[in-house]
Amino acid sequence: MVKMPCLTFNLMENIRKKIVAANWKMNTSLAEGELLIDQILPGIPKSLNCTVIFAPPFTHLSMLKEKLAGSEVHSGAQNCHEEPSGAFTGEISVSMLKSLGIEYVIVGHSERRQLFHESNDVIRLKVDAVLKAGLIPIFCCGETLDIRQTDTQNIFVRHQLEECLFHLEKGTIEKVCIAYEPVWAIGTGVTASPEQAQEMHQYIRDQIALKYDKVTSQLIHILYGGSVKADNAKLLFTQEDVDGGLIGGASLNAESFLDIIHAAC
Ligand code: PEP
Repeated sequence: MVKMPCLTFNLMENIRKKIVAANWKMNTSLAEGELLIDQILPGIPKSLNCTVIFAPPFTHLSMLKEKLAGSEVHSGAQNCHEEPSGAFTGEISVSMLKSLGIEYVIVGHSERRQLFHESNDVIRLKVDAVLKAGLIPIFCCGETLDIRQTDTQNIFVRHQLEECLFHLEKGTIEKVCIAYEPVWAIGTGVTASPEQAQEMHQYIRDQIALKYDKVTSQLIHILYGGSVKADNAKLLFTQEDVDGGLIGGASLNAESFLDIIHAAC
């Protein structure tokens, strides 16, 4: 039987457990991916005080599941289709991911939005499909550089939340993991400052509190993504409302990804 995931909290300290998720994007051959996992897994502390997730390409998921057997490390996919099955050549459904034992699905990544024209409407359907199957969506939101330059990022992100998440009931919204990823910081080497990240994360949490309530807002994990590296991870992750990171480029190198995990755990 597939054990279903749930986001975890440190009840003793009443804080959200940190999450570090690797988004490999369209990188590595199967052999390279296997080698990378073999290099990273032994370096992950046995008694993990944070949640580590790998989201490699679809073609690597079976290999990943085999490698992760018996470990506390989790698996994720980078995308899914919103429909359960049908004539959608080249697409992957949530039930296919579930049948492999995949636990998390990244939904609405800015590259999907920009390069594959995914709208908030489609992303909402994907969020619903992932939740319906009992998997956890890692829902990405974040503004482009021109939005930031006109200082309208809060309205922009609020709109994304309203259109993609705020139809969910209280009791369901808590199951979503949000990743704030300013588009100007993804793969550019430019990172949001810890203050910029905290400001937006707090704003997102406040919007959730306004829509639902304060307790609900405190339960939700909000990750930061955008050029997180070993040398800036600690400062970002110690911001009050930053619950870890979604890591692209730096997750493709064992040493730097392990350093980021250590900064979080
Ligand atoms: C990402 O793709 O989600 C990401 C954050 O990429 P990078 O860390 O390379 O900016």
